[in-house]
Amino acid sequence: MIKTLFPIETFKHCETPFYYYDLELLKATLHEMNACIKDLPYKVHYAVKANANPRILHEIKEAGLSIDCVSGGEIVAALAAGFKGDTIAFAGVGKTDKEISLGINHDIFCFNVESLAELEVINEIAAAKGKIANIALRINPNIDAHTHEYITTGLSENKFGINLEQIDMAVDKAMSMPDVNLIGLHFHIGSQLLDFTPYKMLCDRINDLQDHFEARGISFKIINVGGGLGINYENPNENPIPDFKNYFDTFRNNLKLRKGQELHFELGRAIVGQCGSLITRVIYVKNGTTKNFVIVDAGMTDLIRPALYQAHHVAENITSSATETARYDIVGPICESSDKFASDETLPLTHRGDLLALRSAGAYGEVMAMQYNCRNLPSTQFSR
Ligand SMILES: *Cc1c(COP(=O)(O)O)cnc(C)c1O
Repeated sequence: MIKTLFPIETFKHCETPFYYYDLELLKATLHEMNACIKDLPYKVHYAVKANANPRILHEIKEAGLSIDCVSGGEIVAALAAGFKGDTIAFAGVGKTDKEISLGINHDIFCFNVESLAELEVINEIAAAKGKIANIALRINPNIDAHTHEYITTGLSENKFGINLEQIDMAVDKAMSMPDVNLIGLHFHIGSQLLDFTPYKMLCDRINDLQDHFEARGISFKIINVGGGLGINYENPNENPIPDFKNYFDTFRNNLKLRKGQELHFELGRAIVGQCGSLITRVIYVKNGTTKNFVIVDAGMTDLIRPALYQAHHVAENITSSATETARYDIVGPICESSDKFASDETLPLTHRGDLLALRSAGAYGEVMAMQYNCRNLPSTQFSR
């Protein structure tokens, strides 16, 4: 079992808050994931938006993954980290002309196209450059991922993808265009999924679509099922590595891949979520009349998930050896009531100067940090 061990003596002298990345755990996670797919025609694109730290990107590139970008800036970050253009999938509902140009200049693997309007622009820009752009159509399969409403993406009311009713038209249109090459269908139904029933439903939907298009003599080189595999936020030490085996088995057992077809995935959180912790120092303990507050020097500017999605990160007091516990609200210093990490969290008796680790913060943590209140961005440290 891999458990993140914090170099506490070193931490005591460090300025807080900072993100600490356990690179051993990251490598073990990548190793486990690769082992699960090694004999299968599966390819995983790492979703850069989960964490774009160069050191993290380096490890992921070394493990041989492809990459998934949702902006021109992410394409630049991926190229700087050494990913090759032909491993880049580029998604997003609002790709600008400049971003599309950048993708075409680098001959990226595939544009995941989210509307008919975008399809036309990609075709035009590719034509002007005398190039042919590979595309997959992002289909909104109208499947409820039963996840938080802010991170569900596969319902027809969401802004993402092309609705099922328009997919025939989109395929015909793409095939009639001279400067795009339709290589596949793309889906992404949501994030932080731990129940795989929605993935089974997605497989059924894809099987139907493939039958439908096959009857019309149309086949696709790739199917891309996006990302969304969840992590165990409540027990990071017991479950440091997500259930890759079950996840990939769900697709292996339910999705009927055609001969020669590749299945692509875009995983973000599952790869980097558990390897990161936000380390923060207790500034004050304030005992109120109804609540005890632990006021820490990290805030929603460093880790916004609790404020944005009501997410919970386990807080560990990594310097206290007290056996007596108490319940605390853990709050940051930002002038917003939503700047709160936890309510009624049980901690060992906690004092000014103690260090807390907010666990499972490797995904959508550092990358979402901001400078509200003129604060510094959090710094980073890595295990060796
Ligand atoms: C965010 C995103 C992902 C990654 O999601 P995770 O939940 O982090 O795995 C994959 N594909 C697309 C298109 C995305 O927008």
